[in-house]
Amino acid sequence: MPNHAADKLSDITQRMTAALQLAGRDAAAAQLLAISKTKPVAAITPLIEAGHRHFGENRVQEAAEKWPALKAAHEGLELHLVGPLQTNKAKEAVALFDVIQTLDREKLARKMAALKDAQAEEATGDILFPRFFIQVNSGDEPQKSGVSPSELTAFHGLCTAELGLNVVGLMCLPPQDEAAGPHFALLAKLAAGLGLSQLSMGMSGDFETALSLGATHIRVGTALFGARD
Ligand SMILES: *Cc1c(COP(=O)(O)O)cnc(C)c1O
Repeated sequence: MPNHAADKLSDITQRMTAALQLAGRDAAAAQLLAISKTKPVAAITPLIEAGHRHFGENRVQEAAEKWPALKAAHEGLELHLVGPLQTNKAKEAVALFDVIQTLDREKLARKMAALKDAQAEEATGDILFPRFFIQVNSGDEPQKSGVSPSELTAFHGLCTAELGLNVVGLMCLPPQDEAAGPHFALLAKLAAGLGLSQLSMGMSGDFETALSLGATHIRVGTALFGARD
């Protein structure tokens, strides 16, 4: 069982390296995030033991049940939140996650800034506060969270210049019934326009396309852990 997970990890890593090479990009230009949502600690541990350190979860409550013990037991783990975040869970999310990829609205940005200010007031040394990706609703889908491309420049300005959040990149989840490539290309163009160097895009079915278009973080669940229930 442990070897099974390690085999999948090495398979994905090889496919990543090949895709990056084909795109003329450095082998270290992108990070694989293992998306472990719905998977028990017993399924995650073999990947950690195989040396993997970068993970993602989509729910604060579930992450709170799984990750504090894992982080205490293993050095250097980095945890990303890739699911929607309610403001009433923001404080808990800040304590659990190193990176929050779903900054998607003004109310949440203001809540994060307030938490950061409160932490700075209490802290004596440097404060440890998450880095952020802004989630972009690249297809302007009404039911999907994320900032519309047309509102992105203003929202980015609010988060950074006004609120002082550490925004490092953009994230998207393309519409399910469309080719992902044009959405990845749009995200890359939007990031370049804002001077952002990190792009979280690409999942089990399309991470090679994402890597060819500049992804720095790919989010892979089922191809590593198998299907979710
Ligand atoms: C579940 C999830 C993934 C992983 O999807 P797979 O198709 O299982 O690789 C990636 N990103 C987000 C935001 C997710 O919720």
